Amino acid sequence: MTSREPARTTTRRTPRILVAGLLVVIAAIAAALGYQASSSSRAASPIDVLGSEHRGALGEADGAVPDGTTVFDDKIPGVANLDPALLGALRQAATDAADDGVDLYVDSGWRSPKYQEQLLHEAVSKYGSEKEAARWVATPNTSAHVSGDAVDIGPFDATAWLSEHGAKYGLCQIYRNEPWHYELRPEAIDHGCPPMYADPTHDPRMQPAEHE
Ligand SMILES: [Zn+2]
Repeated sequence: MTSREPARTTTRRTPRILVAGLLVVIAAIAAALGYQASSSSRAASPIDVLGSEHRGALGEADGAVPDGTTVFDDKIPGVANLDPALLGALRQAATDAADDGVDLYVDSGWRSPKYQEQLLHEAVSKYGSEKEAARWVATPNTSAHVSGDAVDIGPFDATAWLSEHGAKYGLCQIYRNEPWHYELRPEAIDHGCPPMYADPTHDPRMQPAEHE
């Protein structure tokens, strides 16, 4: 006995079944296209947009990550060059998130200084001024991505999961304007995450002049 019953297709309304079949095909194509569109324009983050624009110019060796990269992809430099403690926390969190049916993807992790420089350059032309660009993209000297201490997570349900559960792993959102940007704050495990900065321009680390 097969589960398919061709006899039914002749007695019942064949055209409707053909139409249904066509719809399935169309839906599959649409889903495939939709997936591509949504994964390349998973663009809540301006940095994502910049990153995808630069994917051609800058390779994985500089920290560009292909769509669908996870915290377990340790052959990808953007993941492998993250601080081991941050990566460990991310992997624990990703494992538990998966149990909740939520997949964590890495939109950006470690970046080479060259990559960060290009992102900054791009941001200046995108936002029109260095001052405005600084709200979104750090310099190679100040970026926590360049030091391997920051990761941009997507998509939305993953960041929503992290914002609820991240502190348990020491994973904290740092900037209110960047819900995708996470860094390790081990003290958060006991005390919760520290208050967020409104944006990176309020972060003392982003003002090297004050340190030097
Ligand atoms: Zn970031």
